[in-house]
Amino acid sequence: MSRQGWEDSDFPILCETCLGPNPYVRMTRQGYGKECKICGRPFTIFKWNPGQGMRNKKTEVCQTCAKVKNVCQTCVLDLEYGLPVQVRDSVLQVQDDIPHSDVNREFFIASVEGKLGNDSLINYAKADSSARDQLKKMSRPEPYYKRNRPHICSFYVKGECKRGDECPFRHEVPVENDLSHQNIRDRYYGKDDPVAKRMLNRTDKASKLSNPEDTSITSLFITGIDEEINEQDLRDYFYAFGEVKSIVVIQKSKCAFVNYATRAAAELAVDKSYNNLNIKGKVLRVQWGKARPQGPKGDVQTEVGTVVPTPQPAKQGTTLDQLLNMPPAPPPPGAGPSFYPSQDPNMLGTSNREFRA
Ligand SMILES: [Zn+2]
Ligand SMILES: [Zn+2]
Ligand SMILES: [Zn+2]
Repeated sequence: MSRQGWEDSDFPILCETCLGPNPYVRMTRQGYGKECKICGRPFTIFKWNPGQGMRNKKTEVCQTCAKVKNVCQTCVLDLEYGLPVQVRDSVLQVQDDIPHSDVNREFFIASVEGKLGNDSLINYAKADSSARDQLKKMSRPEPYYKRNRPHICSFYVKGECKRGDECPFRHEVPVENDLSHQNIRDRYYGKDDPVAKRMLNRTDKASKLSNPEDTSITSLFITGIDEEINEQDLRDYFYAFGEVKSIVVIQKSKCAFVNYATRAAAELAVDKSYNNLNIKGKVLRVQWGKARPQGPKGDVQTEVGTVVPTPQPAKQGTTLDQLLNMPPAPPPPGAGPSFYPSQDPNMLGTSNREFRA
């Protein structure tokens, strides 16, 4: 470090994607070539081409700023997982303690400058393993070289590019959406990053199963069952959420139906068990059962108000889709007062043997 804390470096801190597939890529280096887009101090700019047909890249933020957040100096994405800072930090639940006002920020960067060495302020080892697993799941398994493609040709967009195939820019119509408006500071500080917002929304949805609108559905469909898991094991787990009307295990198809007496109990069970069900060391999957098929003709209205489908010939072999479309299964023999006529095995549209297997 020289010149009142300006940054001088020999090699940039880059992610694999920005570097490109060739590790021996030629770089030009320009000492104090530009001001860092975060801290504003002059730093060493590196420029290179990450591969044939790709656009030239250069470093945008200084090494100290990159180290503070453990991000690539060019794309400002997390170096370990290639994810936006906002995604990483919300999964790891780390707080941003960098001051946002210019004066304080300069002071902060200067104060960590000497202490950081080759380390980052982000310590993944301290995070619990499920958070790290989640980051891994969200990240791309391979470098994403497509990100290094040339920018879209602005003349082409206006219909004015005359260079045709010779044009080094991409001839594509840009998609205008919330992702078109990104800025490097938001990305760096992990605030209001549209890409992060999308990713986090997606995971939120993935970690929750939405409840079917048809509130008559009170059955859960469980997959991943094997010989070691029996009806009692399922009952032991699922009764905690409310009265279980019946449980039917179909070993042949490695699945089971759990039928609750109330919708509220079924919702609670789904909420607590979706992506989070482990019985006897086996990971099981929970989904909602489907509504019983309701044909326009021939259906029987029973006194309890449920529609019983007309019996159909039993099918050979049962596909997953058919299983999902099965009506709630009948209670085990000798079940108590919660037996409904609509659950009479003789009246169901599928073979009884399937249910008792
Ligand atoms: Zn900087
Ligand atoms: Zn990068
Ligand atoms: Zn063009």
